[in-house]
Amino acid sequence: MKRRIGSEVVHGTDGVDPGTGAISPPIYQTSTFAFKSAEQGAAIFAGTEDGYVYTRISNPTNDRLAKKMARLEGAEAGLVFASGLAAIAACVITLTKKGESFIADDTIYGGTHAMFKDVIPRFGITPIRADCSDINNTKKALNESVKWIFIETPANPTMKVIDIEAHAKLAAKSGVPLVVDNTFATPFFQRPIELGADVVMHSATKYISGHGDVVGGIVVGKKDFVHKMRESALSHMGACMSPFNAWLLLRGLKTLGVRMERHAYNAQRISEFLSTHPKISRVYYPGLSTDPFYDLAKKQMSGMGGMIAFEMKGGLKAGANLVNSVRLCTLAVSLGECDTLIEHPASMTHSTLSEEERMAVGITEGLVRVSVGIEDVNDLIEDLKEALEKA
Ligand code: PLP
Repeated sequence: MKRRIGSEVVHGTDGVDPGTGAISPPIYQTSTFAFKSAEQGAAIFAGTEDGYVYTRISNPTNDRLAKKMARLEGAEAGLVFASGLAAIAACVITLTKKGESFIADDTIYGGTHAMFKDVIPRFGITPIRADCSDINNTKKALNESVKWIFIETPANPTMKVIDIEAHAKLAAKSGVPLVVDNTFATPFFQRPIELGADVVMHSATKYISGHGDVVGGIVVGKKDFVHKMRESALSHMGACMSPFNAWLLLRGLKTLGVRMERHAYNAQRISEFLSTHPKISRVYYPGLSTDPFYDLAKKQMSGMGGMIAFEMKGGLKAGANLVNSVRLCTLAVSLGECDTLIEHPASMTHSTLSEEERMAVGITEGLVRVSVGIEDVNDLIEDLKEALEKA
């Protein structure tokens, strides 16, 4: 029987523990692993025998999570990292070397932007930024030095949606891999590999965890690519995940389906409420039929997720008043948690962008981002309504 995603998130590759019948998998909270003999140790190091050596390289709990995520995304293999940014850095290290470049969409998480703008150019790798919501811009940005294409869709914070299938076709024609940051949609609502992407990455800190208690990153793709990434960007760079965090993420995944359905339901209701409010000039949520990305989002996503952004008519002052006045929503960065989080991208998550860069991608002073939680949506609407009266 081919199981649907709602069952896969619960079961996936998780069977009961064969030794004990435990439903919850064991946590292999160990840094190192004993060899049976000098010969076996040498063989594992040489790669002629399978086995665990050291948790920075691999660990059974981490592998379990990687396998489950690979299965959910429809990939051959996966690898887990200490954070989402470590996962993105691993893509840079694995796919590019000095003198080469890659194309990255212009709307991405502020931390990723800072890595691309301030850190990796120091090592001779130059990202080419383009507005990939128009495939012609991506085409124009292609040149000999481009070794991969990176898109985040829906994008943080403006919920810009990028055509994954069109980019996958372009990437394949150009002989370069397409890497998709699937953090906002999760495999529950969007599976880029089925649309032709080569690599998918996540900040597992967000919806995969779902409870705001872990920082982690995941990359999935072809077996050879993941093997190469483990050798170069994990074993020898060191940003490994703690097995306890992998265990928490495995636990989080079990409820991914029910959480995502509730996040999306609440976000749809809240975006509809906000779009009729007189103090708000624009709401960014692809689930609104008036949203410019509505049709594309419908085509490539099975649900619109829980992230919303909106523009306050009164600019920075009104936005600051609003986030200071909410009582049920929490003023905090990050996203994908059970709790609703509200923040101001220009001064917080996207403060790494210059004013000019922010304006070019629509991150104005009056933009507010909400990670809609799973509370009772009527309470959330009431909280926002009251806060908007004060804004
Ligand atoms: N990708 C997206 C879309 C994000 O929103 C974030 C963080 O907010 C990251 C990547 C980075 O992940 P982490 O904070 O786990 O390093």
